[in-house]
Amino acid sequence: MSAHTPFQSASVTVLGLGPMGRALAGAFLDAGLRTTVWNRTPGREKDLVARGAIAAPTAEEAIAASELIIICVVNYDASDAILRRDEVTAALKGRTLVNLSADVPGRSRDTGAWAAAHGIRYLDGAIMTPTPTIGTPAGVFLYSGPAALHQEHRPVLDALNGTHTHLGEEIGRAAAYDIALLDLFWTSMAGFTHALALAAAEGVSARELAPYAQGIGTILPPLFAQSAQEVEDGTYSGEGNPLTSAVSTMAHVVHASESHGIDASLMRAAEGMARRAIGLGHGDDGLTRMAEVLGRR
Ligand code: NDP
Repeated sequence: MSAHTPFQSASVTVLGLGPMGRALAGAFLDAGLRTTVWNRTPGREKDLVARGAIAAPTAEEAIAASELIIICVVNYDASDAILRRDEVTAALKGRTLVNLSADVPGRSRDTGAWAAAHGIRYLDGAIMTPTPTIGTPAGVFLYSGPAALHQEHRPVLDALNGTHTHLGEEIGRAAAYDIALLDLFWTSMAGFTHALALAAAEGVSARELAPYAQGIGTILPPLFAQSAQEVEDGTYSGEGNPLTSAVSTMAHVVHASESHGIDASLMRAAEGMARRAIGLGHGDDGLTRMAEVLGRR
């Protein structure tokens, strides 16, 4: 039995037992909650049942077991396939549903409208950290929807440990943060994997490059803060590193990669965006000008 006694009388249902759904259910169990689980494909619940979870045979029975239902599946096509069956939708009426699956903000808004039309209390959410962080202080959860609903269920959500931030009542807001942050994450990781390939082609091993790559990581947080301020102020200062200079080093990466036969389309895309901003007369501005140019309609 867990040391987290405050949650012992609370209950929660988790629909979806992929790696993240299992991590969520496991954290609830560790915190002492009565945890009911269900997954489309049977068998994934076995370890959780051994730890005290209740396995429901159907989604509607899992929903009937708790006031708070958390769904975490691959995307909203999958959550729709589970939730938009008549018997499941009927079981959800009057209960609170939190969808922690990832998708585009439009799907969250569509699900919010569907929930409202069926008398389902609805919060949308996003998980910003990987499975090992769930149940630890490092977990980061974002929510949007009715603030009072978020507040009402905070005691159960807090059982997951980590931080639980309500971003606003507009139901698509958590997904909007999520999609922008995924844009940053995946382009960063794609850049890193490309750098590893380019370094290897030059005879530099991943282990040799890693400390310097981490050094790049440490210069980014203050740069993000400064760049965000410039975008808010509309200043786009190129002092210190104008686009005309930045684009030249981007071109070096393209040329070096292609000289080794390594696909450089990622950096070609960045170079193309920078050259477009320069072509529009912004060569003396900094990289942040690209955000403004990209955002023009
Ligand atoms: P997946 O994204 O692979 O999702 C697996 C789950 O989706 C399983 O429960 C699977 O059921 C279910 N599923 C897939 N298709 C369908 C369908 N058509 N109908 C019903 N259920 C379906 O794994 P995760 O658990 O890791 O991720 C869940 C969500 O959490 C995703 O949106 C992901 O982006 C997000 N997330 C994950 C993180 C991670 O580190 N893993 C980090 C942050 C967010 P079945 O077993 O039956 O196939």
